[in-house]
Amino acid sequence: MTAPKAQLHTLDLIGNTPLVLLKGPSAAAGCEIWGKCEFANPGASVKDRAALWIVRDAEARGTLKPGGTIVEGTAGNTGIGLALVGNALGYKTLIVMPETQSREKMETLRALGAELVLVPAAPFSNPGHFVHTSRRLAEETPGAVWANQFDNVANRKAHIEGTAREIWEQMAGRIDGFTCAAGTGGTLAGVGMGLKAFDEGVTIALTDPYGAALYNYYAHGELRAEGTSVAEGIGQGRITANLEGAPIDTQFRISDAEGIVWVERLLADEGLCLGLSSGINVAGAVMLGRQLVGEGRKNPRIATILCDTGFRYLSSLYNAEWLEAKGLPVFPWLARG
Ligand code: PMP
Repeated sequence: MTAPKAQLHTLDLIGNTPLVLLKGPSAAAGCEIWGKCEFANPGASVKDRAALWIVRDAEARGTLKPGGTIVEGTAGNTGIGLALVGNALGYKTLIVMPETQSREKMETLRALGAELVLVPAAPFSNPGHFVHTSRRLAEETPGAVWANQFDNVANRKAHIEGTAREIWEQMAGRIDGFTCAAGTGGTLAGVGMGLKAFDEGVTIALTDPYGAALYNYYAHGELRAEGTSVAEGIGQGRITANLEGAPIDTQFRISDAEGIVWVERLLADEGLCLGLSSGINVAGAVMLGRQLVGEGRKNPRIATILCDTGFRYLSSLYNAEWLEAKGLPVFPWLARG
């Protein structure tokens, strides 16, 4: 008999995701563009990492006790991660989500056993906003903790200790730039801080969608949003605690139409089915690559995040009627039907 392999806990499946060279984006940028396959996490998104770190942090602080409830306001992916982590560790999950998010995310959360509360989309200043609603529900529920992903820096710690270290090791310490969009900002700030700790010379760039205020903040020092985006999970209007002190060197703004071009090409040419935030990230990585090439860097190597699976958006991003209604280009194979 062969010796049994080391026992893995199901939670060990979070993180240590593959990093792949993206052919099309590399050709477009004239340098190497690498994608971190966060859709390969058990909950199929980058947010499993934040969920695990937030829960472990609450346990360590003693605020989350056996049989307790994790409450969170989320665009969906953090809720999915929390539900899985909660199930694995014996906690209930109560998730508050704006009703504008994809149907697949709602059905997934219910299927995983989370209690789901839907609220109308509202500005952050409105007390009915999903984040404030989740905080109130956490206060009212006995034995509950509020995950507070936006301002709980256990979120970005997941990326300092996990994602950044993995990227550094997978690229054998040869990385010139990193970029991604921000929802909570945990990924951008955490990977940025983690990579800078290895090498100050790595350029960290924000890739912002329209409708978010961060591009103008980092470019002009003013939190001001312009335009709109249908991308889920990204687009921030304030400096969250996770974004405080993020080492941002430069910034790009990417339209949904530009992001969708990469969603289409990555699926049609490279066999990757992704959400729109991944397409926007890849568009930003191509811009960062071109900028570093333009500055005379020899074959710069850029990394970005492939945030979640496209299977989460079959009724939106991969649906011809939905795309048409939003005025977005329809993938040729969807228009055939
Ligand atoms: N893409 C998707 C699909 C997401 O759900 C999120 C999380 N809100 C992000 C990107 C951004 O991640 P972060 O919260 O770490 O900024």
